[in-house]
Amino acid sequence: MSEDKFDTLRIHGGFNPEEHENAAQIPIYQSAAFTLGTAVQGDAIASGVVTGSYTYSRVGNPTVNTLEKRIAALDGGVDAVAVGSGMAAITYAILNVAEGGGRIIAPYDIYGAALDEFEKLFPKYGINFDLVENVNDFEKIQSLIQPDTKAIYVESVSNPTTEIADIEKLAEIAHQANIPLIVDNTFSTPYLLRPIEFGADIVVYSSTKGISGHGNVVSGLIVDGGNFDWANGKYPQFQENEYSLKNVNFPKNYSFSNVFGKQAFIKRIRMKYVRLMGAVLGPVDAYLELLGLETITERLDKEVATSLKIAKFLEKNPHVKKVYYSALPDSPQYELAAKYFPKGIGTVLSFELDGTPEQTDQVIDATHVFLYLPNVGDSRSLIVNPSKITHREIPEERRLKSHITDQLLRLSIGLEDSDDLINDLEGAINSAFNK
Ligand SMILES: *Cc1c(COP(=O)(O)O)cnc(C)c1O
Repeated sequence: MSEDKFDTLRIHGGFNPEEHENAAQIPIYQSAAFTLGTAVQGDAIASGVVTGSYTYSRVGNPTVNTLEKRIAALDGGVDAVAVGSGMAAITYAILNVAEGGGRIIAPYDIYGAALDEFEKLFPKYGINFDLVENVNDFEKIQSLIQPDTKAIYVESVSNPTTEIADIEKLAEIAHQANIPLIVDNTFSTPYLLRPIEFGADIVVYSSTKGISGHGNVVSGLIVDGGNFDWANGKYPQFQENEYSLKNVNFPKNYSFSNVFGKQAFIKRIRMKYVRLMGAVLGPVDAYLELLGLETITERLDKEVATSLKIAKFLEKNPHVKKVYYSALPDSPQYELAAKYFPKGIGTVLSFELDGTPEQTDQVIDATHVFLYLPNVGDSRSLIVNPSKITHREIPEERRLKSHITDQLLRLSIGLEDSDDLINDLEGAINSAFNK
């Protein structure tokens, strides 16, 4: 199976009909728990000597597990775990590396709720963030690494200004310091970018977005590339004995890193965070996501082509001051885009209106095809004003440094006819400037 290419894996990855009553499509296992067989079998399952059996759906569920195996295959990872939201994926990945306290380096230009969590909530748990203005300021990042720095965290393409992170260089810097690189790959999806191939260790997703692709689930995924050594001495949580892992095979050293080796990261998230903190994904949501994944190639090919067409249209519009879409030939990141994103950088772009905040509101109100809401990666095209909605919790001064002015509008491009989308935007902009 692992030799199959992306388009085969997105349909078949992680699923064998013979293990599911020969069902062609993955059944929805809407069951909270699973029978354990005999008492002897129950003991073997509970002790971890027998693997692959299900016990309780907070720990594992066949429908959810198919999604987990499929995303691991699509991303070239060794294992994955699904959780209840993208924020849960980010939270659990950060807690799993920095449990007990430590520092993490990240850029300011990240998802608004993640920035709020990093700046305000995690420090209350002893996890502090060194935030940088520019994700590709390698010298600055290197200078911030301290003995208790536990990871570098970046978004492959930032929200809303589509800054591309130079993952290969960032992974090099992280690995020199014996720490992992965590990449939020939500905007790209594994179809446009596979961060593990460029050296990333952990990939997190809000699969609410382009992976499920239809705006009908809230969900998150964490994928492990399996190349990081969690027993390097910097992560005691992986090296301490974990009583629930003790069994006849591991009577003495039953730590996560000893029992699971380089697959310890996801096992630990599943057993310590999903099982104990409980942000579990339900089987119906996992099913919807698997269904969405089946058409990811066709969806993204069309949406990316339309995004580029719309970016070029906006660039020429006299009422647009600036377009943020790093795939445009005159973008300062054009070379990085060509290196990391031969199939295009994605379906999200932003533009700054050359007008007043009131005119910006009027553009939102005058669009008919674009829906006004805070989401991306839907099959419907979406428009939002980040300064008032998605990045509202970020203080104005900080927002402006990230180019999030009151005149910035973010678009997420769906599957509608591209001419209709352009006409909708052009009509809305004209109406705002003719008032
Ligand atoms: C939406 C989003 C998140 C949060 O995901 P939820 O599924 O809404 O919790 C995290 N990162 C990025 C880049 C996002 O777009």
